[in-house]
Amino acid sequence: MDYQKLAELLYKDVSKTPADIEAEFPPRSLPEGAKVTRFAPSPTGFVHFGGLFPTTVAERLAHQSGGVLYLRIEDTDAKREVPGAAEALIRTLATYGINFDEGAIIGENGKITDKGAYGPYKQSLRGDIYHVFAKQLVKEGKAYPCFTTEEELEELNKQNKKEEIKNTDWQAEAEARRKEMLERRNFTIEEVEAHLAAGDPFVLRILADGDPDKKVKFTDLVKGNMEIPENDEDFVLLKSDGIPTYHFAHAVDDHLMGTTHVIRGEEWLPSLAKHLQLFRYLGFKTPKYMHIAQIMKLDENGNKKKLSKRDMGANMDDYTEMGYCPEAVCEYVMTLLNSNYEEWRMQNPDKSYTEFPFNIKKMSVSGCLFDFNKLNDVSKNVISKMSAEDVTEKVSAWATKFDAEFGELLLADKDYAEKIFAIGRGGKKPRKDLATWKDAKPYMGFFYDKYFEIEAPYPESFEKEDIKAILSDFNDAFDASDDMNVWFDKIKAIGEKYGYASDMKAYKASPESFKGNVADVSMFIRLAVTGKINSPDMYSVMQILGKEKVCERIAKMIASL
Ligand code: GLU
Repeated sequence: MDYQKLAELLYKDVSKTPADIEAEFPPRSLPEGAKVTRFAPSPTGFVHFGGLFPTTVAERLAHQSGGVLYLRIEDTDAKREVPGAAEALIRTLATYGINFDEGAIIGENGKITDKGAYGPYKQSLRGDIYHVFAKQLVKEGKAYPCFTTEEELEELNKQNKKEEIKNTDWQAEAEARRKEMLERRNFTIEEVEAHLAAGDPFVLRILADGDPDKKVKFTDLVKGNMEIPENDEDFVLLKSDGIPTYHFAHAVDDHLMGTTHVIRGEEWLPSLAKHLQLFRYLGFKTPKYMHIAQIMKLDENGNKKKLSKRDMGANMDDYTEMGYCPEAVCEYVMTLLNSNYEEWRMQNPDKSYTEFPFNIKKMSVSGCLFDFNKLNDVSKNVISKMSAEDVTEKVSAWATKFDAEFGELLLADKDYAEKIFAIGRGGKKPRKDLATWKDAKPYMGFFYDKYFEIEAPYPESFEKEDIKAILSDFNDAFDASDDMNVWFDKIKAIGEKYGYASDMKAYKASPESFKGNVADVSMFIRLAVTGKINSPDMYSVMQILGKEKVCERIAKMIASL
């Protein structure tokens, strides 16, 4: 076969050579050890938690090494493309600390444009580039046209699937596949000419040289050393419309754009043999690969399953509405990514996560478990370290969007809200009440009459008359200018008067000698003032509410008993 002639027949309009293209994409000049990584989404939907995960790895590795993180849009499947998805992806990722140095960015007009010297960064605009390398492969006898029409192919696929169900004789099936492939490979230049003259569409296939009985050795930076069967499948490089498949575009783009580390989901692992073959055929240096395990979750029966697109917590855009702050989500992602992160955090409570020395070796090989409880714990920690101003700001912003009435109340008196959020903040052991901004209302809504309600009646075990008398005495005694000790001494004294121990030791030694203790007395007052069994520090609460409101609520409670 005259491959040179075949290449000219198929790609007569392609005049550039691979060397011309290489000259347009010179190697990057970066410091020693700098990593070039990328996020390569297909613009088909939202950012999935399972997508943020590898992207955070890519971001950390690039920026920690003084390298480059870029964004490439893999829009080779026009049928699945969702308009506006790319813009939304970029915005969402920016919320979670993923900022691209290069690639597709949102321009001033709000539309995607390019930044950087290795573009275009949208695969649909790189058609000419792929064709240059395709032509070269044909010239070298490494790729060939296949004039099977799409309908024929579909029919074949269907048949294969049917066969697959019935046929468990894999050996025979492999034989059949091989035979079919050899038939495809068997054609003459004249046949190609005739097809082209008739305007028949064709796909370009690789001419696979692998032997599946042999293995390629390979080291994945996450999975470790592995051996994978060589590829013997003549997979498609260019579809009949001339658009590349993922495999071909991946090799050409990651090579030209200078990617040093391809970080992607482990669902690509089965295609790896194809990619290694392609890099070899094209004479490109193979990048380093990191295949990241899928994020798992526990189902109702406690079994591990993949976190699917429809699962709660999958869509990153939902986190905003759920009231999670991006800092907490990033922190959580870090705890999942590196097993020593939490230890580091304990030793460095005030540092930004970007200062953590991210280490590939500390990554989980088998897959991380997504767990809202853990996220909430991490989030409570993160929020507990924020200032009251910051929290007020963030809760108000969230509420304005998702709970307008609450938002208005907060903003009507910012100082008041700030005082509330300052309770238990600062100091060595700050309170950890809020995991999300949504938690704010149940936590502190009682400060506003609008949301004040008694959450439970007093336990039956206490005498109503005692409660009434205690509340009434407290109302008479309460003086907002008392310091905390005087205030508490008053509560203890009132309790004693009605037979409630003020000294816990004495109470524990002989509980039957008392009607209760000072904790019960506090609970009587707390429920009246806050409507809740648990609340932030009562002294602080009363200081903020002020005498009038405290006494008014207590009087109301007495009247209701
Ligand atoms: N476009 C591919 C995807 O959406 C990217 C995989 C990769 O990172 O190479 O999964």
